[in-house]
Amino acid sequence: MKYIFVTGGVVSSLGKGLAAASLGTLLEHRGLRVTLQKLDPYLNVDPGTMNPLQHGEVYVLADGAETDLDLGHYERFTKCVLTRDNNLTSGQVYETVLAKERRGDYLGKTVQVIPHITDEIKNRIRTLEQAGNADVLITEIGGTTGDIEGLPFLEAIRQFILQVGHENAILLHVTLVPYIKAAGELKTKPTQQSVAKLREIGLQPEVLICRTEKPLEEDVREKLSLYCNVPISSVIEARDVENSIYEFPLMLQAEGLDEKVCKLLHLETPPADMERWKMIVHSIVHPSRRVKIAVVGKYVELQDAYKSIYESLCHAGGANDCGVDLEIVDAEQIEAEGAEIFLNGVGGILVPGGFGDRGTEGKVAAARYARENKIPFLGICLGMQIATIEFARNVCGLEGANSTEFDAATPHPVIALLDEQKEVAGKGGSMRLGSWPAVLKAGSLAHKIYGQAEIAERHRHRYEFNSTYRAQMEEKGFIISGTSPNGSLVEMIEHRDHPWFVAVQFHPEFLSKPEAPHPLFDEFIRASLG
Ligand code: GLN
Repeated sequence: MKYIFVTGGVVSSLGKGLAAASLGTLLEHRGLRVTLQKLDPYLNVDPGTMNPLQHGEVYVLADGAETDLDLGHYERFTKCVLTRDNNLTSGQVYETVLAKERRGDYLGKTVQVIPHITDEIKNRIRTLEQAGNADVLITEIGGTTGDIEGLPFLEAIRQFILQVGHENAILLHVTLVPYIKAAGELKTKPTQQSVAKLREIGLQPEVLICRTEKPLEEDVREKLSLYCNVPISSVIEARDVENSIYEFPLMLQAEGLDEKVCKLLHLETPPADMERWKMIVHSIVHPSRRVKIAVVGKYVELQDAYKSIYESLCHAGGANDCGVDLEIVDAEQIEAEGAEIFLNGVGGILVPGGFGDRGTEGKVAAARYARENKIPFLGICLGMQIATIEFARNVCGLEGANSTEFDAATPHPVIALLDEQKEVAGKGGSMRLGSWPAVLKAGSLAHKIYGQAEIAERHRHRYEFNSTYRAQMEEKGFIISGTSPNGSLVEMIEHRDHPWFVAVQFHPEFLSKPEAPHPLFDEFIRASLG
């Protein structure tokens, strides 16, 4: 296996994850099998318990792992299907090492960062080699060079590269080359210093990926090469993409990144054939029409909180020759001012997932507005629970219907915990996570959308539709169009008296790619155009 490590310097948010994913795209289009991994220096065991406003969305893998949102980029940009081994946090490393220590595995030795923590990190990199399904592993290290908490990871990588040799493992450093207006110049000093930090601990990057607003002129490249000790051909310019993140692989290809990487790693392959990718990017960037989609949520301040949903809408837009104008609506504002002013005139309404009761009444109002005005509606996870509450209250006359998550004393708990979940104490312990199969009702909209009767989708939730209310709601036109194979869990619902009202207990946004938009988003956009 060949190894590519990706670090970031100067500032965070440089798009390291996108750079890693884009390199993955290019290598895959050269015929290589690629997998990607993220090492996160924070001490949480996983991001499952973090507020989305802190950390962005929690991305869920097929095996149920709750991971960093960069894994979403990895899966969208490549064909790889990741597992819990592909996201490692310091929390996990320490958890494992401390468990071994308690078991007595270290035979009386003093347990230390070097070698015990670093060995554990190296083991977890090796695990992906043992899986045997990739030629190249791209490992991204979270954080910024110079962070104290990142040091064990960098030290582990230094040892790792030494052990497998430079022809098998390389380091790419993503860095910022800022433009200083007053001087009218690009400045290389921050990059020099962040590379110096790496060299101090024995790491020499082979390639610099330079994020910049302006073109890197020859003299800037020369300076970076000289001071950072990399050949000038390894100074890669990465300008801010103009329209779409999916342009990033094309930009890096034009700079010769994949060619360079293959040469360094002695990988002989034909050049990457990016024709189809280019066509997809073109249809995303130059659509001939537009549609307005309202996303009614509560984590509206942070673009990253609903990352995969926004990306899925973008993929579906591309497939329908249509640009998606997002109208991000704060559910609490709907509570204060009513749905009409925010939702009047939109093509479609989407209510995404969420936890806790803040903003839920605003979302219920949005679902009602979509139902009454026959506006296409897509409810995701909490969005399906909201649509259920709305229908129970306003169509079935079940006054005060609610989820027990928001009102423990509701007279009509149409969304509730299953009995067997009630015992579990730890946060996360009672979640339904990862890929679950479902069967679709013949003749339903869901069945038509998927074009098949059996599906598998990723879940992340605690509460479920309460089946005691099934018959009562179905009678009024609430269609249960998808269930777990034994029929016990409700996975998809739709409305009989509405042209396109679909809500799902799972997260379809984790399965959409630019090259293969998810059918639910695809049809939602199509309906919203109509
Ligand atoms: N809070 C809801 C639950 O736990 C929905 C979760 C979600 O939308 N991901 O069931």
